[in-house]
Amino acid sequence: MKKRIGLLYGGKSAEHEVSLSTARAVIGALNFEVYEVYPIFITPEGEWRRGERLAKPVSTIEELQFGDPTTILENNITDFLIDKQGNAIQFDVIFPLLHGTNGEDGTVQGLLEVLNLPYVGNGVLASSAGMDKVVMKQLFEIAGLPQVPYTYFIRSEWKSDQQAVIERCEEALNWPMFVKPANLGSSVGISKATNRDELVEAIKVALQYDRKIVIEQGIVAHEIELAVLGNDNPEISVPGEIKPVTEFYDYDSKYKDGSTALIIPAELPVATVSSLKELAKRAFKAIDGSGLVRADFFVTDDHQIYINEVNTMPGFTPVSMYPLLWQHTNVSYSALIDRLITLAIERYEEKQ
Ligand code: ADP
Ligand code: MG
Ligand code: MG
Repeated sequence: MKKRIGLLYGGKSAEHEVSLSTARAVIGALNFEVYEVYPIFITPEGEWRRGERLAKPVSTIEELQFGDPTTILENNITDFLIDKQGNAIQFDVIFPLLHGTNGEDGTVQGLLEVLNLPYVGNGVLASSAGMDKVVMKQLFEIAGLPQVPYTYFIRSEWKSDQQAVIERCEEALNWPMFVKPANLGSSVGISKATNRDELVEAIKVALQYDRKIVIEQGIVAHEIELAVLGNDNPEISVPGEIKPVTEFYDYDSKYKDGSTALIIPAELPVATVSSLKELAKRAFKAIDGSGLVRADFFVTDDHQIYINEVNTMPGFTPVSMYPLLWQHTNVSYSALIDRLITLAIERYEEKQ
């Protein structure tokens, strides 16, 4: 029998459009002889819509949003489990192709847990820990992973004593500093500050996005990423290097310019590669990952390694780093999708 797979995509996040391209690519790569594919679209306003079962891959966004969608009322979100005729759809697995808030942060994962549905990727804990840069850093610290020095504060501390916050940053860190909202991705709200005035500006920007702010010591280094795939015994891909042409890997260089070069495999000494693989595995374990993560590192010219972050639902279009890393490790895009679905079902069955 075919596996019934629900693809959850779109979403109320800055990464809505990215999710749509991912969904199109994933649908294009799924074997319709093996899978029965049901699109579940979340509008930018956060409305859930179920689609009719897809008979074939789609090539346009319009097709993806399926001619005659049924609006699912917000107070009856679980209606996506029922088809137009009112029959329950017995999903074998849900594949959340969502990034950022309400998708990658454990909330949708929690909904799927409550509904007792197997789903691809990280669970509630790993997703939410991976979304909060402070919690993630604390877990990495406990796991003994090397990181750049950092500090953090919450909005109310800033409001009550800006001077104290600035002094804390200056005591703990050297210039330049990177200021980041704790709970975002895609470089949104992140700025580099080279002096006190810029720090104040950067903090004001970051506070527009979050109540918790991380300040890190800036580092001059190569940005190296590795893909982790598996559950209890994950496999690690070759490393890849990101070479943004902008001053740092900001939102535009991630999604707009197309000017960022991806070098796969990254040119690194053998010993550095094996350390990176080991650290990527430890980072995955530190957040209790499952399915997949992309582990992002800084590697200096003298081969010092620092972990920057893990992303629990990394970019997943065929030209994104995560699938490309696997392609260079002899796992094709469609084989990768099959593997993730199998891992999701294995994890679910293990829990039962
Ligand atoms: P996001 O989760 O939004 O991707 P990151 O922490 O990865 O946030 O930061 C985005 C980018 O900012 C990085 O890819 C890198 O180019 C730059 N960056 C972040 N932190 C530092 C740092 N401490 N030193 C140098 N560059 C940094
Ligand atoms: Mg991130
Ligand atoms: Mg990043």
